[in-house]
Amino acid sequence: MPRAIHWFRNDLRLRDNTALDAAVRASDAVLPVFVLDDRLLRGPHAGAPRSRFLLDCLDRLADELDESGCPLILRRGDPAKILPRLAREAGADRVYFNEDVSPYARARDARVDAALGRADVAVTRCQDRMIQGVEAIRTGAGDAYSVYSPYRKKWRQELDEPAPGRKPRLQPFPGAPDPQRSLLERCRDPVTGAEPVELPTGGEAAARRRLDAFLDSAAGRYADDRDRPDRDGTSRLSPYLRFGVISPRTCVARAFEASREQRRDASGFQNWIDQLIWRDFYQAILAEHPHVLRHNHRREYDALVWEDDPEGFAAWCEGRTGFPIVDAGMRQLAETGWMHNRVRMIVASFLTKDLLIDWRRGERFFFQKLVDGDPANNNGGWQWSASTGTDAQPYFRIFNPVKQGQRFDPDGDYVRRFVPELSGIEGAAVHEPWKSPMLAPDYPPPILDHAERRELALERFQDARAKGGL
Ligand code: FAD
Repeated sequence: MPRAIHWFRNDLRLRDNTALDAAVRASDAVLPVFVLDDRLLRGPHAGAPRSRFLLDCLDRLADELDESGCPLILRRGDPAKILPRLAREAGADRVYFNEDVSPYARARDARVDAALGRADVAVTRCQDRMIQGVEAIRTGAGDAYSVYSPYRKKWRQELDEPAPGRKPRLQPFPGAPDPQRSLLERCRDPVTGAEPVELPTGGEAAARRRLDAFLDSAAGRYADDRDRPDRDGTSRLSPYLRFGVISPRTCVARAFEASREQRRDASGFQNWIDQLIWRDFYQAILAEHPHVLRHNHRREYDALVWEDDPEGFAAWCEGRTGFPIVDAGMRQLAETGWMHNRVRMIVASFLTKDLLIDWRRGERFFFQKLVDGDPANNNGGWQWSASTGTDAQPYFRIFNPVKQGQRFDPDGDYVRRFVPELSGIEGAAVHEPWKSPMLAPDYPPPILDHAERRELALERFQDARAKGGL
């Protein structure tokens, strides 16, 4: 009678979950387990908003598992010690889990594999995090892609329209160990001590509601609205995708379905699927090139000279640079743990090309604050913005923060929502408050001259390129 463990990690859902489904199909009883690893909750790379969201998602997963009579088993500590012990206690001879791409997760999983092997417990790993895994999208020569457009072309050619997987029928696990659900409460206390952030509701039901609402309304207009931070034009599914609370396959399958049913212009839906392809692309880049977490993907930029500038960095972090769209973005991040994609690009360009501060400092700050902070996407976004990445924007394209604000927040509503000191300035004039100082007495003047800094950035990039042999 095969008895197995399903080890939940970044796949906090029951529906369309590859490893869970495989475990249920192959076993008479499956014990669902999550290991609270202190590194996730409060290690150097943890972030309070993300930890709180994770605990909320776990709580709801535990509720759903309780309803099926198969409670979630929670333990705290090192999975390489805990899983063999639990397997012995439960009489399980196999552990199933979905793979991850980050170097930390891969090193941990190798240790877990070895420990389970010594305990005579077999392991089944599944590809579930990406819509199409790293091995599925290769060039004719069998290599990984490092440029997005050909990757997307191949990705689309290879895609069989996914059919969302089912919710498996879990049965009570005879002789299951104590669930220790109170661990969630105990982990929550120190985490919630941190600054208040308005977080989305965790859990699979909330993720599915959000997907439905997006596909019924904003998805059809996504091609026009996705770059407008003043509109509610994107799905806001990133925290759920980050923790696998919803499956990216389900998202694509539902987008195809909705586009057919609504018989609307399909470009919005197609454009949205392109974003999910970016997600697969960056996961694949991190899997193939783990060095990007510490180094420039394009090593020829290693000679770039960055500034230290503690005051400039503090002004950027706190949203008081004197550039309204930058400050609105950084305050949106502080208040909600999320920032609109267009504004992420603007603030990242400002940090790396106006302040000339190393992208790694911005990446780390984002990772502490973002509820959707994901090693692959965050690194991809930062290296793209800094022009050091695999398929980055060219070094000479430097966003002008005023023009970006005027173009993508044309009535100034986004800025006024997050920068109350500017609420007295109407319309697009809010992007140049120095022209109406009487209306914004409490707002700081710009901390730098964009035109001068742009010239300096161009010089620095050209010097680095010359040293790097370009
Ligand atoms: P939608 O527009 O609805 O897109 C749907 C999904 O596609 C997103 O939820 C996300 O999973 C994926 N996606 C969208 N855009 C991108 C992209 N450019 N790259 C990779 N995947 C994408 N995204 C994260 O999930 N985590 C991060 O830590 C992160 N850090 C970023 C840092 C910078 C500097 C930049 C420029 C971008 C970053 N992104 C990150 C990508 C993007 O900003 C967010 O995924 C997006 O804003 C999430 O909002 P949404 O769910 O409404 O997206």
